[in-house]
Amino acid sequence: MTAKIIKGTEVRDKILEEIEAEVNEIKEKHGVVPGLVTILVGEDPASISYVTAKIKTAQKLGFNEIQDSQQPDLSEADLLGLVEKYNNDDSINGILVQLPLPKHIDDKKILNAIDPDKDVDGFHPVNVGRLTIGGDEVKFPPCTPAGIQELIVRSGVETSGAEVVVVGRSNIVGKPIANIMLQKGAGANATVTIVHTRTKDMAAHCKRADILVVAAGVPDLVKPEWIKPGACVIDVGVNRVGEKISEKTGKKIAILKGDVDFETAKEVAGYITPVPGGVGPMTITMLMKNTLKSLKFKLGIA
Ligand code: NAP
Repeated sequence: MTAKIIKGTEVRDKILEEIEAEVNEIKEKHGVVPGLVTILVGEDPASISYVTAKIKTAQKLGFNEIQDSQQPDLSEADLLGLVEKYNNDDSINGILVQLPLPKHIDDKKILNAIDPDKDVDGFHPVNVGRLTIGGDEVKFPPCTPAGIQELIVRSGVETSGAEVVVVGRSNIVGKPIANIMLQKGAGANATVTIVHTRTKDMAAHCKRADILVVAAGVPDLVKPEWIKPGACVIDVGVNRVGEKISEKTGKKIAILKGDVDFETAKEVAGYITPVPGGVGPMTITMLMKNTLKSLKFKLGIA
């Protein structure tokens, strides 16, 4: 069997088209567009490139996008003040503080200061609680896990009653995707198991999975013999395993590998995401979707 490759770039393009159409409709009917602020403290090159990608996407969709770049020596108190300013700004629906923050600033303190109704990353304890309660309570599911659910559902994979095994229990991927798939509702209703470094016989758990989500950060951790024939395999891992010269730009770029041995796994799985080009493109897309949702909640049309 050769698996169907789930192309994150294609799903991304489709969802962005849907968002753009909704933005235009809301603009026409209500005279407003979603407002997103990205706060960047310092000049970390990786952070700059993430923020630039977010800004470009937001602008393309017609959002009101504010980039607030601050010096690396900005104090914690001043950053808290900035967050408060945007909490009180009616034109802003989503606040994104790019991590990591400089060492003298407590990440948790800053993220917890964001108004939960503008926390489009979905990391605030209130939004984590809302996701755990489920149903109508859910406002902003974290972006990477929400993107994973879209990839599964839009590929036509049945989730109701499916055995979902998640490798990894982080707060940004493992726990929230488990919570999302456990929800009572469409695109979920699964039976969920989470495995981690203390799990006995991880292979046996993985082998039971109709849907296997791997977010460990260990290259080629999952072997083809751990995969149930025909299963849907979502590889979240992004591991830099070397460097190469880009054919396009002639510049040095990282060689990326997932947590699943793609070449062998695709001969067993029914569906599989590649790395890069699978889960990766979904995160920014879902950030845009959450920002649009935030405006819709405010307008009472969500
Ligand atoms: P993390 O915080 O380091 O958590 C990794 C989890 O995997 C932990 O729960 C750990 O178990 C578990 N784990 C590690 N090695 C394992 C092993 N050998 N066997 C079983 N479990 C193992 O990582 P994360 O932030 O969730 O990210 C995971 C991967 O996804 C990374 O490669 C990251 O770059 C990637 N990622 C991609 C995107 C994207 O594409 N948009 C977004 C986020 C993350 P313990 O808890 O027991 O230590």
